[in-house]
Amino acid sequence: MDIQHNFQLQTYNSFRTKATAKLFAKPRTIDEIIELLKQYPNEKKLILGNGCNLFFTKPFDGLVIKPIISGISVIDDNAENVTIEVGAAQDWDELVEYCVNRGWSGIENLSLIPGAVGAAPIQNIGAYGTEVKDVIVKVKTIEMATQAIKEFNNAECEFEYRNSIFKQTRNYIITSVIFQLSKSFSYREKYIDLKKELAHTPSPTLKQVREAIISIRKRKLPNHLEIPNAGSFFKNPIITTAEKDSLLEALPSAPIYNIDTNSFKTSAAYLIEQAGYKGKRKGNVGTYENHALIIVNYGSDDGNDIADFMHEIQKVVKTKYNIELEPEVWVF
Ligand SMILES: Cc1cc2nc3c(=O)[nH]c(=O)nc-3n(C[C@H](O)[C@H](O)[C@H](O)COP(=O)(O)OP(=O)(O)OC[C@H]3O[C@@H](n4cnc5c(N)ncnc54)[C@H](O)[C@@H]3O)c2cc1C
Repeated sequence: MDIQHNFQLQTYNSFRTKATAKLFAKPRTIDEIIELLKQYPNEKKLILGNGCNLFFTKPFDGLVIKPIISGISVIDDNAENVTIEVGAAQDWDELVEYCVNRGWSGIENLSLIPGAVGAAPIQNIGAYGTEVKDVIVKVKTIEMATQAIKEFNNAECEFEYRNSIFKQTRNYIITSVIFQLSKSFSYREKYIDLKKELAHTPSPTLKQVREAIISIRKRKLPNHLEIPNAGSFFKNPIITTAEKDSLLEALPSAPIYNIDTNSFKTSAAYLIEQAGYKGKRKGNVGTYENHALIIVNYGSDDGNDIADFMHEIQKVVKTKYNIELEPEVWVF
């Protein structure tokens, strides 16, 4: 396997920031991953998918592993469901299209999310009322420290909002994911934007739902290939009753969603917008004009410009509303 030294990562992250990796490899099989782990037991490691949820502020002093195991295989097929195993490097949206074309439902609302399949369980990707955890049966991994192959069933993945055991421990390389999709499809109006988009299509087909999601996303979100970005930059904050009460005093119209008796979710985009940061630009970095939650890079190749702008937003929101914004994007 080819191991590259001082490898430039600029085209491997969707913010397009420059940074080199001390070592870089693209293993094609599970055996090649294990061999690599044995060869470099003491190097710091970073597993890379398509780099759509991370950026670099400094050279990566270790081994970047970009597995290139792809492919979709059917492992069970009955009248109601189909179960498929998908390689980690498979493009996520190509998988969604593949499933929708075959009439398999469950991930159509996750259309056009950029990235590879292996990254989908990491933060339990979600959009338009759906999270990937709803269709994951099993995640196959290699534990980095021991090189042991480990499989996690859905409960063992400990999925939460933009979180999982893989994100918490960072110990595992995901090699494939097993999904169960349904062969029947009944449209449920889960999300207001989708409902509006399909207002003149009373019983949309699976394909029409995918097309509607794609057209909403193309309207609302910047294309990272044209304007470098990593999607939603911050997680929606989960707050306590006391934090909710003080937020409502400062911002009476802040959206509040009940989670349980002492925890609530509010909208990070709303807080950033109210703090005056929607469409704000500082040098080569800013928030997108149509979406306050998306930090965009207008031309910097230094990840520190993005990190500085991130810290500024966090500070302003904390000072004004006493709420900590936690990045959804990984900063290396
Ligand atoms: C325009 C835009 C829109 C977006 N919209 C959404 C959205 O609607 N919903 C949403 O949830 N996300 C969204 N995202 C974020 C991003 O698309 C997802 O997080 C996606 O899963 C990232 O995939 P990736 O392959 O690029 O992962 P990367 O950025 O390469 O990696 C992300 C994390 O996963 C780890 N990782 C990657 N692959 C593996 C593996 N095989 N094994 C172990 N660890 C691994 C990495 O180390 C890193 O910590 C958006 C991003 C962009 C640019």
